[in-house]
Amino acid sequence: MVSFLDLKAINFQYRDELMEAAARVIDSGWYIRGAEVELFEQEFAHYCGVRQCVGVGNGLDAISLALRGWIELGRVDIGDEVIVPANTYIASILAILESGLVPVLVEPEIRGFNMPAANLASALTEKTRVILPVHLYGELVDMPSVMEFAQAHKLLVLEDAAQAHGAAVGDRRSGSWGDAAAFSFYPGKNLGALGDAGALTTNDAELADIVRSIANYGSHQKYQNDVRGVNSRLDELQAAFLRVKLKYLDKEISQRRAIAALYLQHIQNSSIVLPSWDRSASHVFHLFVVRSDRRDELQAYLLENGIQAAIHYPIPPHKQGALAKYHDMQLPLTELLHEQVLSLPISPVMTNSEVEKVISVCNSWC
Ligand SMILES: *Cc1c(COP(=O)(O)O)cnc(C)c1O
Repeated sequence: MVSFLDLKAINFQYRDELMEAAARVIDSGWYIRGAEVELFEQEFAHYCGVRQCVGVGNGLDAISLALRGWIELGRVDIGDEVIVPANTYIASILAILESGLVPVLVEPEIRGFNMPAANLASALTEKTRVILPVHLYGELVDMPSVMEFAQAHKLLVLEDAAQAHGAAVGDRRSGSWGDAAAFSFYPGKNLGALGDAGALTTNDAELADIVRSIANYGSHQKYQNDVRGVNSRLDELQAAFLRVKLKYLDKEISQRRAIAALYLQHIQNSSIVLPSWDRSASHVFHLFVVRSDRRDELQAYLLENGIQAAIHYPIPPHKQGALAKYHDMQLPLTELLHEQVLSLPISPVMTNSEVEKVISVCNSWC
């Protein structure tokens, strides 16, 4: 069986270093807000090319803490609108709602999956304060155009970079384009911890400071609570694991791109639409997503032939029970994508013969 994502094999590559990192934390006697978190924050800020990184509990919290930070700083008001792509993972939208803000869903581009900057104007109202572009499947949104639009309309930009660690346009990586960015280190992400973890990146020291406080019970000084905070901290153990895995992120991204290039070159089936990629660094292939109008049949055929493929995502957010208020919205492209998308296996531990098997099974499907 070609597994969709073999996390055990991915982490096994670094087993000795991960064990050493765990031992270091266990023996330190210090498990929350210590040296490992501080070093990881410095190293990840440097990787992204920003001045500030705040480790938090998970990716969802990274998004909502950034929004709450702006609210505390008086830059966004409760009830303001946030423009967000309709075909994102639901976390982006839940974080907006959780912060007391209003998500305004925007259609993606059918070919690229991401929200085109051209679709922003129609979503703009006097209530719009934030754009939340999502670098879906690992591909950077057209950030130069989004930033230009945001500057023209005095909007804040919060990147949801949960799927796109390391994706870059020119030498500017995800996490350094917006006013702030949210990352997830959920185990299955390209930079994955061995549990839940997340981070906020920004060049804005004031935002980093307030987020650090909100995430720690609204406290900078022990037992003094300046704002009504939550508990969402990156722990020492996860930070120590992430410091090991960050060293290998670029190597793993190259391996993912090499597999994507083979798929793009060799999968030839008129019933399978391949993603477009200009061979630039803008895509880190967290997922390799194809489309087919017989998607369920393709998935079943792959499975019969020993290949696990997955759907990201089967139900669009506006059709979820959690977002009942949005059920009547007309988002035809988003709905079409959710019927057609299928993610083929792609990971740094896939062997050449597994890649060849995926290609030949896709080509033999009719
Ligand atoms: C994974 C993910 C999140 C949430 O991250 P968690 O760490 O699971 O909370 C948010 N947005 C997107 C696009 C994601 O893929």
